[in-house]
Amino acid sequence: MKYISTRGGMAPATFSDILLAGLAPDGGLAMCESYPQLSRAELDAMRAMSYPELAFDLIRRFADDIPAADLKAIVDKTYTRATYGTDEITPLKRLEDGLYIQELSNGPTLAFKDMAMQLLGNLFEYTLAKQGETLNILGATSGDTGSAAEYAMRGKQGVRVFMLSPHEKMSPFQTAQMFSLQDPNIFNLAVRGVFDDCQDIVKAVSNDHAFKAKYKIGTVNSINWARVVAQVVYYFKGYFAATQSNDQQVSFSVPSGNFGNVCAGHIARMMGLPIRKLIVATNENDVLDEFFRTGRYKVRGSANTWQTSSPSMDISKASNFERFIFDLVGRDAEQVRALWQAVDSTGEFDLSASPLFAKISAEYGFASGKSTHADRLATIRHTFEQYGVIIDTHTADGLKVGLEQREAGVPLICLETALPAKFEATIREALDRDPPRPAGLENIEALPQRFEVMDADAEQIKGFIAAHV
Ligand SMILES: *Cc1c(COP(=O)(O)O)cnc(C)c1O
Repeated sequence: MKYISTRGGMAPATFSDILLAGLAPDGGLAMCESYPQLSRAELDAMRAMSYPELAFDLIRRFADDIPAADLKAIVDKTYTRATYGTDEITPLKRLEDGLYIQELSNGPTLAFKDMAMQLLGNLFEYTLAKQGETLNILGATSGDTGSAAEYAMRGKQGVRVFMLSPHEKMSPFQTAQMFSLQDPNIFNLAVRGVFDDCQDIVKAVSNDHAFKAKYKIGTVNSINWARVVAQVVYYFKGYFAATQSNDQQVSFSVPSGNFGNVCAGHIARMMGLPIRKLIVATNENDVLDEFFRTGRYKVRGSANTWQTSSPSMDISKASNFERFIFDLVGRDAEQVRALWQAVDSTGEFDLSASPLFAKISAEYGFASGKSTHADRLATIRHTFEQYGVIIDTHTADGLKVGLEQREAGVPLICLETALPAKFEATIREALDRDPPRPAGLENIEALPQRFEVMDADAEQIKGFIAAHV
């Protein structure tokens, strides 16, 4: 399997080549040259597989330059009961006949990002050891991504993590999750400023090419191809759990921000998994809902990006969306370049008048909708009263939009992207009670914390990195 860029300017590369890279050299995103196609016999065989068996059988088709025995060992070490609490890894919770929540948040940081990030940690360690290299991951977080990255990379040989977060702006639970890590390869830098300041510093450091090369700076952001591929697996697992035979179809509803999660659903569908609809659910930051409803993709500035009670979806530009558009335009890199040139110069592109627009739902199965704070509260209340289940705010957005798009006779799987314990304040607002905390995390706020407070100054951060590598 070779990888190319959505903008056409990258020589075909292997999985290992692109594993540690960010954007392609031409500013595009890495994509497999073609999607592996599953025969009916292969799909039938997969139905009986355990999660790690399934993960290996799917990922090996994308990572065929890693020796099979090595990849199998990496996958077996990643998807364990010890890390995810069950042998099913992503169990399906039945709300009623034909309506399910797929649990993706039983990993160490209680959000679905662990599903991919845990694999990435093991793949990075393996690849760096093989190349005799080291990597210093620099990131900015407002909560979920940073903690998932730290828990995936803690204790890994050859990897250090420098994670910037806005000082005293994360929830006490999120802060405790990150800052209580005592591993010597994890550095929490609390920046006096807001999340955007942290992100600006990461950009400034990454744009200092000499510094970046000398200190081997890398990232683990949501465009990382291995993260997307790891997420393909749970669509298969959810499909098999909700059906009796591979003649049936299911629909998935996916809480979306950067289009990473639902992009994996699109890939699963392109490989031949019988998915009927992929329902893209946004919160008030509805860039993606607007596109799927109208054909107009209009990015927002930070002044028009709202802070909501499903904060991990407060995104104004969907970084993985280009991967779907590449498929939509028939993999014509020139068209992708032209569309993103329009985004760069005018902030938007519009396919409403193009014949492509009809294909988005007819051929690719996409549907969408949006959910507001009031919808979240109502959905959390209704789900608790009707089914006795407490869901988090992001999952509530997905369930709300999924139910609007539900079709009789088609099982609907709503992906759970976080546990309610991460978003206690909104659960209290909706239900007037605290969500349960997983065992072992009851007193996490009381653990000793390890972090450095720094000014929002790229030079200070560079100095810290230089002194600690
Ligand atoms: C990251 C995240 C999302 C959005 O996922 P994308 O892959 O960016 O679309 C949704 N919910 C939670 C809890 C998240 O952490």
